Amino acid sequence: MNFNQPYMSIADNLQKITTLLPNSVTLVAVSKTKPISSILDAYNNGQRIFGENRIQEMVEKYDELPKDIQWHMIGHLQKNKVKYMAHFVDLIHGVDSFKTLKEINKQAKKHNRIINCLLQVKIAQEETKFGLEVSEIKAILIDDEFKQLKNISIVGLMGMASFTSDTTQLRDEFAALKSVFKELKIQNSQLTTLSMGMSGDYNIAIEEGSTMIRVGSAIFGNR
Ligand SMILES: *Cc1c(COP(=O)(O)O)cnc(C)c1O
Repeated sequence: MNFNQPYMSIADNLQKITTLLPNSVTLVAVSKTKPISSILDAYNNGQRIFGENRIQEMVEKYDELPKDIQWHMIGHLQKNKVKYMAHFVDLIHGVDSFKTLKEINKQAKKHNRIINCLLQVKIAQEETKFGLEVSEIKAILIDDEFKQLKNISIVGLMGMASFTSDTTQLRDEFAALKSVFKELKIQNSQLTTLSMGMSGDYNIAIEEGSTMIRVGSAIFGNR
């Protein structure tokens, strides 16, 4: 997406977003592909939560950067790489299979940690987006084997809307996710986080009930 805005610094961009952000919404600064210097720039302007979509890249950045940063994994997970981030990852957004949950639990246990996870819901009409169907999520949450996984905690849901400029469609997709979230919360009070909204659509996502937005290019510039 091209925002065609005049050049603004990372500090300016961050400030513009955070001053308008409701208290109920957490900003994840998506720093994938961006250099350490850009992350430090955001860090020095108060940002502490960063999102990456490749485990290897996140590990390298974790090693070099201040340890009070909270790292969120927002990308599609490769099961065999979960072990590399299990000692530090703060929240995993895109969990879309029971197998992956079991692997996260296994690796978290080795480090004596409980890793917070979001289940990714398929909300976009596009066939290409990852995610679970609502029925699959319900099945996981009541599964006895799932209840034995003591080193993970499912704290919410994540969704990606279609790649479209049709704001009515975006709004409908976010509203649908919010309604699934509300329904599941009735039986599962640990669900507190609804991760939806990116640079191009976070305002709509917030209007539709997002509690966590994942914003990259609107902070760091185009990739
Ligand atoms: C890259 C990415 C984002 C951020 O995208 P922008 O359009 O740059 O804000 C958010 N969520 C996920 C899952 C991503 O992969």
